[in-house]
Amino acid sequence: KVLVGNLIGEGHANYVLMYNMLTGIRIGVSRCQAKMKRPLTDADYTAKHKFTFDIIGNELTPSAKYDFKFKDYAPWVFRELREYFHLDPADYLLSLTAKYILSELGSPGKSGSFFYFSRDYRFIIKTIHHREHKFLRKILKDYHEHIKTNPHTLLSRFYGLHRVKLPHGRKIHFVVMNNLFPPHRDIHETYDLKGSSIGREYPEEIAKTKKGAVLKDLNWLGRGRELELGPEKRSLFEAQLKSDVELLKRLNIMDYSLLIGLHDMRRGNKENLRQDALQVFQPETPSIKRQPTQIKRNSEKDAFALRAAVRRSDPKALSSQTTKLPDKDVSERRYFYFYQDEGGFRSTDEENRPGHMIYYLGIIDLFTPYTNVKRGEHFWRGLTNDSHCISAVPPKEYGERFVNFLSSIIKGGDKTKRPKMIIPKS
Ligand code: ATP
Ligand code: CA
Ligand code: CA
Repeated sequence: KVLVGNLIGEGHANYVLMYNMLTGIRIGVSRCQAKMKRPLTDADYTAKHKFTFDIIGNELTPSAKYDFKFKDYAPWVFRELREYFHLDPADYLLSLTAKYILSELGSPGKSGSFFYFSRDYRFIIKTIHHREHKFLRKILKDYHEHIKTNPHTLLSRFYGLHRVKLPHGRKIHFVVMNNLFPPHRDIHETYDLKGSSIGREYPEEIAKTKKGAVLKDLNWLGRGRELELGPEKRSLFEAQLKSDVELLKRLNIMDYSLLIGLHDMRRGNKENLRQDALQVFQPETPSIKRQPTQIKRNSEKDAFALRAAVRRSDPKALSSQTTKLPDKDVSERRYFYFYQDEGGFRSTDEENRPGHMIYYLGIIDLFTPYTNVKRGEHFWRGLTNDSHCISAVPPKEYGERFVNFLSSIIKGGDKTKRPKMIIPKS
């Protein structure tokens, strides 16, 4: 699992799908946004708006390059959510759809989902399974309520839920959400933490050569990492974590994780790599249409090149002539406690003096309810392994173990409640 992507230009296998997704969002979102704001009703949570696009166009939809159908789910609810998340509507549409190029991460997880980044790296489109889509619609009201009462939530921020239907009938469901990682800071290590130990180790031999690998619980412990948060940050973080996990327990959700990106300010953004990246992408004038660009996968240089390219495409952060990358975060993140320091959460010592780490963190992958499948897995894996160390445990146990594990990895935090971990002998 390496966070490197391909830019999608015309000619790319998924260009048509991407064009359709972005065209649909542009029309759907601007339609809803153009209307007068009004209080939400119960019907808004189940609403779906249908658009039919074709090359001719009609009074409802302008002409598009391809024939496809688009569904916008609960547009009024997501409009209000975007407001809670401090997204400016015009800005949102521009970031997401100004140029029809996203970068594709392929399928980093087991689930088969695809991830696409907006050109400015702020938003992620994740394709989801139909059952995940149904589940999100089912919990949407509770999620909305939680966001309203927990402005500083650590949960994934969902900005839209949509579906594209291609002419031959294939349906693709997707959500738009926040990218936890910033465009202007290199992430030196990435962890996906669940609080379980079975299957929770990324091979260290491979991690050595693969920069950008997503490491897991046992790597975190094995490398002796700690979250350094002074007393104030620690208690606010733990309180928010508990509140968020309460919701997940109540909604019967499991298998989520805390994604953490570490930026070490002493290492900074490696100048040489940033220079290389700039050479790969020569400045271009915005009016000239970009040629399809393919970036090879799986090398550190390419990862930086991709991120530099998307940084450069942000009209606010950079003009097409600049060769200097942005150093400041100017996004909506500054409104939120856990994202206020350079888009992240800065380490502090016991006296609340700022440290040199920035944590980019949040709870991701929220669409797995504890179903029969998972119960089955719990049963048969429980026969061979310690059943409390595996990922698939009931939501209440999952949530408590998650919170206890995360408390235990904070410097000075409560280690006595650390869940039992089976550490493999090496
Ligand atoms: P699985 O169900 O097998 O875990 P999935 O397809 O549901 O996989 P996720 O767990 O949601 O995928 O995410 C996979 C990886 O994608 C994460 O480990 C992380 O590296 C990256 N990722 C997911 N969401 C975000 C986000 N909001 N910001 C940044 N990176 C993310
Ligand atoms: Ca996951
Ligand atoms: Ca998943």
